[in-house]
Amino acid sequence: MTASHLFSIDVEEHFQVSAFERYVDRGSWPEHESRVVANTDRLLELLARHSARATCFIVGWVAERHPDLVRRIAAAGHEVASHSYWHRRVTTLTPEEFRDEIRSSKAILEDIVGTAVVGFRAPSYSIVPGLEWAFDLLLEEGYQYDSSLFPIARRGYGWPDAPLDPHRIRRAAGELLEIPMTVWPVGPFKVPAAGGGYFRQFPFWVTERAFAARERAGKAGMFYIHPWEVDPDQPRVAVDRLTRIRHYRGLDRVAPDLDRLLARFRFTSVADWLATGGA
Ligand SMILES: [Zn+2]
Repeated sequence: MTASHLFSIDVEEHFQVSAFERYVDRGSWPEHESRVVANTDRLLELLARHSARATCFIVGWVAERHPDLVRRIAAAGHEVASHSYWHRRVTTLTPEEFRDEIRSSKAILEDIVGTAVVGFRAPSYSIVPGLEWAFDLLLEEGYQYDSSLFPIARRGYGWPDAPLDPHRIRRAAGELLEIPMTVWPVGPFKVPAAGGGYFRQFPFWVTERAFAARERAGKAGMFYIHPWEVDPDQPRVAVDRLTRIRHYRGLDRVAPDLDRLLARFRFTSVADWLATGGA
C-alpha cells in the first residue's frame, strides 16, 4: 500500500489569526470583509485536481455564518473537524471556557453535516505542557483524536518532548489519538516543516524532504495550511513589522507550491487514514 500523508486546513478568516489578537477585537469581526469561502474553495479545487482529501478544522464562528461551505467540504469527501468556536488559545482559557469552546463548535458542525465530529485542533497549537486537562475534556466531550501538538519549543506554543509520530495519550477518561505536526529531525535539530508559515518562509525543498523522510520511514506526515494563505490580495491589517512579515510574506508562493506538493505526495484526511488502518 502506498503511504498517504495527512492534509489539513484550519478554516478561519484572515483576521482571526492569533498574531492579530492585539489589533483585531473579536467584537469587530463582523465588520471585516469575509474571504474565507472563496479562499477555502480555492484550496478545495487544488485538492480535487490531485484527488486528495483533507481534514478541515473549522472555527465554529465561521461555520455558523457559512454553513453551505461546511456542507460543501463534507460533500467533497473531506472530513469536518473542530478548530474551537472563538479561536482563542488554550493557554488563555480556564478548563470551563475550553469545554464551552469544544462543545459548542462540535454541536454547530454536527448540526450542519449530520455526522459525528471527532477531531480537534487547538488555535495556534496552544496545548502546551501543563494543560494536560485539555485531553481529559476532549475525551469527555466525545472527541477521538487531537492534532494540536507541535513537537518543538516556540514562544507561546509547542510541546518540545512530544513524540514525532501519531500516538495514544492515556488519560483517566480514556485514550486520545494524538497526531502531531510534522517536524524533520536533522542531527540535533528539529525543523518545523508541517506547513503554514513554515511552508511560506522556508524553501519548498524543506517540506519536500521532511515528508519524503517520513515516507521512507513508513509514517504519515501531517501538513496544514490556512485559507488566507492562498490569498495574496487580502486586506492588510495594520500590525507591527514582525507580525507583518510572518503573516504576509510568501503568500503568492503558496498556491503553486501546494500544487507541487500535492503532485509529489499522496494526501488524505485523518478520517480516511483511520478507516484504512493508518493509525
Ligand atoms: Zn487557527
